[in-house]
Amino acid sequence: MKKNIKLPIFFHISQLEFRPKYEWALGNRIKHPETTKRAEKIYSTLKKSSDIFEIIRPENVPLKQIRDAHNYQLITLYNTASRLEDGQTFYPSVFPQRKKAKADPTNISHAGFYCFDSGTPLDNKTWTASSWSAACAFEAAQTILRGESTLTYALSRPPGHHASRDSYGGYCYFNNAAVAARSLKKKGRVVVLDIDFHHGNGTQEMFYNDDQVFVISIHGDPRSYFPYFCGFPNETGAGKGLGYNLNIILPESTDKKEYLKCLKKTVIPAIKRYEPDFLIISAGFDTYKLDPIGHFSLDTPDFFDIGTELGKLKLPTSIIQEGGYYTPDLGKNVKSFLLGSYKGHYGSKGQKIDYSEKMKS
Ligand SMILES: [Zn+2]
Repeated sequence: MKKNIKLPIFFHISQLEFRPKYEWALGNRIKHPETTKRAEKIYSTLKKSSDIFEIIRPENVPLKQIRDAHNYQLITLYNTASRLEDGQTFYPSVFPQRKKAKADPTNISHAGFYCFDSGTPLDNKTWTASSWSAACAFEAAQTILRGESTLTYALSRPPGHHASRDSYGGYCYFNNAAVAARSLKKKGRVVVLDIDFHHGNGTQEMFYNDDQVFVISIHGDPRSYFPYFCGFPNETGAGKGLGYNLNIILPESTDKKEYLKCLKKTVIPAIKRYEPDFLIISAGFDTYKLDPIGHFSLDTPDFFDIGTELGKLKLPTSIIQEGGYYTPDLGKNVKSFLLGSYKGHYGSKGQKIDYSEKMKS
């Protein structure tokens, strides 16, 4: 009998050990949006559909790949944080001008040198959770490289797309999508498509000079929204990478019609022209209409349609979890996107699924 194709989901329980309680946002102390409940919600939702999703625990932290993607000082800083007392959390509040300062990553008080906001705390579990989060992305990519599956999902948490080679911020510590993309680019050309509400500044920076990785980000206007200082259309890459960075700003309250138009008219033709061998999707769900941080108007079924369009590219694809902060609906939004991706990707080759029925369960 033909075996049903399942969608591998990568997740490790140690990702839940890091529990930031609050952040400083524009001078206010607010509850931290990047809670463990996010991952728990996604996990419990996907677990219910074990006929289509197969949850797999990565076995190792890909230390070499993390070291290749990030510099020694940043990793040393996280190691320094891992020696903080239980319950002690460090929020940098001094951010020196890098050109004028020198920093010591074994001194936690120097964390501000490596950080670019006050919403991304360090404690003694940051390293553990972030490195397993990167492990999920790495394994998702390895699984498509080994040909075991052509569509995978990493339930990465903390997210990654704001972290660059030598800096962290935006709730991101290691750039999970970059770890995945770097491992794939040894075997072919890679597109990283970032559909989080916020510009993927870290991913852009890491591949800005690279013609083997084409980074595309669709996001809200950086003049009004995080990360504020980049994500503009005139940032098109440099050196060999010139022409291989594409930023698309969509207006506030963008709905499904506008979003799909952007995908079909601009994004999908750009991906096809590049003729990639692999696709990484930095999948943020803070484009949801109820998201407290994002400002688009996408609804749960819209993620299915977006997933279907991208799945129809039929490229070996790893979907990497990024943002999404309306926790009550995060599980069903992720599930909607994954089911759509599955339908577009496998078509009639996949399982016979009643998708509308599946969305209700
Ligand atoms: Zn975001």
